Amino acid sequence: MLSEMSEMLQACFSFSEVQQVVAQHVARLFQGVPGKLYAYGASKNGLEELVSWNSGSSSTFLFGSEECWGLRRGRLFASVGGELTCQHHQATGATLCVPMLAQGETVGLLYLEGNENAFTKRQERLAQTVAESVALAMVNLRLRETLRQQSIRDPLTGLFNRRYLEETFERELRRAERKGESIGVVMLDVDRFKLFNDTYGHEAGDALLKALGGVLKQSIRAEDVACRYGGEEFTLLLPGATQQQTFDRAEQVREAIANLRVMNQGKVLEGVSASMGVATFPHHGRELAGLIRAADLALYQAKREGRNRVMNAEKPVA
Ligand code: GH3
Ligand code: MG
Ligand code: MG
Repeated sequence: MLSEMSEMLQACFSFSEVQQVVAQHVARLFQGVPGKLYAYGASKNGLEELVSWNSGSSSTFLFGSEECWGLRRGRLFASVGGELTCQHHQATGATLCVPMLAQGETVGLLYLEGNENAFTKRQERLAQTVAESVALAMVNLRLRETLRQQSIRDPLTGLFNRRYLEETFERELRRAERKGESIGVVMLDVDRFKLFNDTYGHEAGDALLKALGGVLKQSIRAEDVACRYGGEEFTLLLPGATQQQTFDRAEQVREAIANLRVMNQGKVLEGVSASMGVATFPHHGRELAGLIRAADLALYQAKREGRNRVMNAEKPVA
């Protein structure tokens, strides 16, 4: 049963699957013994109950790691009522608190609440093994999620990367075609960024790009995509938006950037602006490359006309 559980855990794709597998198997491995699985919450300062089995455990839903002897010492803690016990439960009989450790990190706690008889050494070893394989599965899941994030996000700005933009566009394109809707595309380029770097230094330039990422994220809706196209160039994808709506949004972004005050090493960096070009599917093109080309041409026009402005793409580019 233990090896079946380990194998199931390795195949889990989400934490809710891990919870189900653990609850089902531990309930059978420890028949009639109530228990709970805890994990650190997002803030890392408390443990939250993920799942429970064989109902009746007295351990609280939420507690701090200092309330558990197992977590404090980083190793299995067995207690039989009356002795020194943890604060996170009211059990009067035997309890087992098994910290879940993997790759040098504590990810949670496995808690079991028995009767007046102490858990046997064999049960302790079993609980230890269960905790190890659950911890490993949880660390693997988290790693997988981190890698997925890294493969679609730009680390400096936290925005999506170009690869993600291309994938998303294909999806949005099909949706827009089916619904007969448009998709707005904005190309943005920071004005005189070379000069900015030369004046304040490359590090300040990076700080500005990061702040710009924040502005873009705040200026768009959840279903829109803000991406770092490369260097100091950004792309916005607005599914369902018309040319006018996209232009208005770009204008808002332009104003927000012009009002941006970035702090770097105690200095306020002002005088930042960006130019933008706006194009829409299907009017300016039916493929991302063509749309970007159309928006880029408008962007260059905006640069020529004095920068810090938004321009609409003119006619469809062949
Ligand atoms: P324009 O208004 O015509 O766009 O002028 P510009 O100086 O922004 O244009 P140009 O394309 O000549 O220069 C872009 C500069 O952006 C070049 C490079 O030094 C800078 N840059 C690109 N990527 C990064 C980055 O990741 N960090 C920093 N600090 N600078 C970058
Ligand atoms: Mg550029
Ligand atoms: Mg530039």
